Amino acid sequence: MLKNLYVKALPFQVIDFPEGVILKRGFEKIVVNGSGALQKVLIILSFTSGRTASLEEICNQFAVPDRDGVEALIKDLLERSFLIHADQNLVGSNGNQFDIFLEQFKLSQKNLVEKLSALKIFIVGYNSLSLTILNCLNDLGVDCISIVDEPTLRNYKYFDADGNVIKPLNDESNKQIISLDEFVSKNKENSTEFLISCSEFGGQALLLKWNTYCVENHIDFMPVYLQDMIGYTSLMIPGETACLQCLRTRQNSHLRDLDIRDLIETNATNAQSVTAIHPAAMSILANTAFFEITHYYGRMPFPRPGKLIRTDVIASETEGKKILKVPRCKTCSSINRKAEVQINLMHPMPDK
Ligand SMILES: [Zn+2]
Repeated sequence: MLKNLYVKALPFQVIDFPEGVILKRGFEKIVVNGSGALQKVLIILSFTSGRTASLEEICNQFAVPDRDGVEALIKDLLERSFLIHADQNLVGSNGNQFDIFLEQFKLSQKNLVEKLSALKIFIVGYNSLSLTILNCLNDLGVDCISIVDEPTLRNYKYFDADGNVIKPLNDESNKQIISLDEFVSKNKENSTEFLISCSEFGGQALLLKWNTYCVENHIDFMPVYLQDMIGYTSLMIPGETACLQCLRTRQNSHLRDLDIRDLIETNATNAQSVTAIHPAAMSILANTAFFEITHYYGRMPFPRPGKLIRTDVIASETEGKKILKVPRCKTCSSINRKAEVQINLMHPMPDK
């Protein structure tokens, strides 16, 4: 027995049933069988809930024949984070459900916020998608984010006739809105590391210049767009994954009316008053993007940058498919990139 092993309990649920007891915390559940199971668990809890106790101290509360079984149970509880070492300080112990979720991946909210805050994040487009993503990140505790007001990605309901924001969410959010010029100068001072670009009126085409900008400046890029009530998002890492132009080239290879698609999408900004959107589709897409951000930068298992995540609320479907690189992609192929870098001198300015 490890006499010097001191432990304490994190909160968990105890469900009594005739054959034993079920213990539940996060995704984990432990079934302890036997008529004395509940009593065993309650004794362990009486020594470890709100205080610490040594393994020896706890085992001594039981009859000698039971001690091996109790020791094995305590080790199982430790392995699955129902109990923790006395010197550990998991934030999830305060009952925050998001922290309990993160704890399943050996993370804490504090740790995730530090990782996200270390990135220089910009969200391009002042619209409902970008505001929802911004709010999610702000609620998490990440507040060093700016929204770049790109006129073609505006939702007009947030602007008056002079192009000023009508009703900022609060003073703090208003301070986070910057113009394209401000973005360019900020990016020169302090390189952007992650750029999210949101279009809610069907314009994948409207995001292509930001895709180019990110590829050429080695910025992680997340396009988020709603097209005919279907939401799309993907995390694209320059030099590693396919880019948005790769996706468009592959999609176009199945289409006959490419000119029509281009015309509709490049005019999407002016289609706002005739576009059909259910608010749930918008919210699901924005929250899917938020989940992907926390998933990737939180380094959770099974990372999936380069996958197109498609959410279709009408068909009740969500799917993720890898986007394959196009060998001679005009944006991300190394063959083409050399020529573009010479032309754009490393800091291409997105078209206004
Ligand atoms: Zn590409």
